[in-house]
Amino acid sequence: MATATSPRLLPEVEKFLATAPLAGVVGGKDAVSSTGETMATLDPGSGAPIAEFHVLSADDVDRAVQAAAHAFAKSGWATMPPNERGAILHRLADAVEKHKPIIGQIEALDVGKIQAHALGDVQNFVDTLRYFTDMAQHVQRRSTLAVRGHEAWTVRHPWGPCGFIFPWNFPFLLIGWGISPALAAGNTVVIKPAEDTPLSAIYLARLAREIGFPDGVINVIPGTGRVTGAALTGHPGIRRMSFTGSPEVGRLVGEACGRNLVPAKLELGGKGAAVVFQDVDVAETAQKLVNAITFNAGQVCCDATRWLVHKSIYSDFVAECKTRMQAVKIGYQLESGSAMGPVVNAKQRERVLSYLKKGQEQGAEAVLAGGAAEVPGHHGFYVKPALLAGSLDNIAAQEEIFGPVAYLASFSSEEEAVAMANHTDYGLANSVWTSDLGRAARVAESMVAGNSWINAHNVFPHGVPYGGVNKSGVGGGVLSVETLYDYWRSQSVVRPL
Ligand code: NAD
Repeated sequence: MATATSPRLLPEVEKFLATAPLAGVVGGKDAVSSTGETMATLDPGSGAPIAEFHVLSADDVDRAVQAAAHAFAKSGWATMPPNERGAILHRLADAVEKHKPIIGQIEALDVGKIQAHALGDVQNFVDTLRYFTDMAQHVQRRSTLAVRGHEAWTVRHPWGPCGFIFPWNFPFLLIGWGISPALAAGNTVVIKPAEDTPLSAIYLARLAREIGFPDGVINVIPGTGRVTGAALTGHPGIRRMSFTGSPEVGRLVGEACGRNLVPAKLELGGKGAAVVFQDVDVAETAQKLVNAITFNAGQVCCDATRWLVHKSIYSDFVAECKTRMQAVKIGYQLESGSAMGPVVNAKQRERVLSYLKKGQEQGAEAVLAGGAAEVPGHHGFYVKPALLAGSLDNIAAQEEIFGPVAYLASFSSEEEAVAMANHTDYGLANSVWTSDLGRAARVAESMVAGNSWINAHNVFPHGVPYGGVNKSGVGGGVLSVETLYDYWRSQSVVRPL
């Protein structure tokens, strides 16, 4: 709940939270835990419990997958013409948009996100759902094949029940990125939100039910990763799996899906670089990178966490960054004027602080020391932005910290910059900053990752594939026409003439 000193919650949010312990939704009905287990989700800005929710057991997960399989086989969802399915999906997009202030506040409260950013995430969900819904009505699912002596064609079918496991940093936005193509393609879905942030997923499932979405098409199973998540990934009734989260858990999900021969998309962590050449506007580039590393308190998989700067502008650039980072207003996420909220929980704050300590123990210089931050009246999980500098072999330059911490190093040549950017096991997203667009394109294509951005960081227009390579992802990618095709299995049909 909001504390005495924090802004009042919307009445609709209060009403939603008053239904705690919050159940999941399976087959259109409330799904409570068969073991009776519940747990609390906390407000990261105050550290106080927001609401209890049900932790669904392996048996409950089995019921959810069966409900999704039943809806796939019997509700008509999978076989209805795409324009009819599209009308239902547009109804859901409209309902989410209408409830944006409510969902945005629920998300801000649960994740610790600045409210304006949470509202942006909800709008992004709506845009993603509309993007895939419209696309599914226009792409061809049948292709005639020109093969001598045969009549032949391919046809694409939805797979069946698809499993989704999401992390806590962008819960609602990522649900949109994940389930929109799956639903538009005619699949049914079972969603496991992160245990730290289950609220917006539960709200979505209730909203879908309210607007008459067919029962069992969208199922939400709150719970822990160890029990609920593991039961979903190991379930043989799932036909396709999508996991977004850490590489460590991604491996477990990949192994479990491999045993069942279920295709899995793994969208994992990152350790992105920003390569800054000497021909940039130093102040403007510094501001944009500071905005990127403090956005969502640095809990962004594709963030620029290694800032590689040409040696001729290095000291100016560092001075600009330092001043701007110190000016970031850290505050409670629902209070206007706050620019950076808390990290998601005490464990995450401890993780950030421990990397600052370990990095310095290995010889990194603390250009801006960071550390725990105090926000008067709010006993949440706040940290200050920090800047480290030194060798790129340092633990803080190699491992994903997931907080507002950037690591600085300087380079002398383009070749050296590219080699430094590629000195990582990850491969999610990097950026290059220069006014020489030829060099920008060269460097962008030489950095080994799924995504390269030029003179910007964190750019996600619908239609541009976004995914990772190496330790950042396998078999995945979101936000483009390929993503929709991922949610159809291809079948060939042939008749000798
Ligand atoms: P996490 O891997 O700890 O948890 C992610 C989800 O997996 C949660 O829902 C959790 O309950 C579940 N889980 C945990 N153990 C499980 C198990 N044994 N079996 C099945 N499910 C299990 O990740 P996190 O801490 O929630 O999120 C942060 C990570 O997510 C970072 O590494 C970040 O980079 C990554 N991420 C990647 C993307 C992307 O698009 N590539 C987007 C956002 C976040």
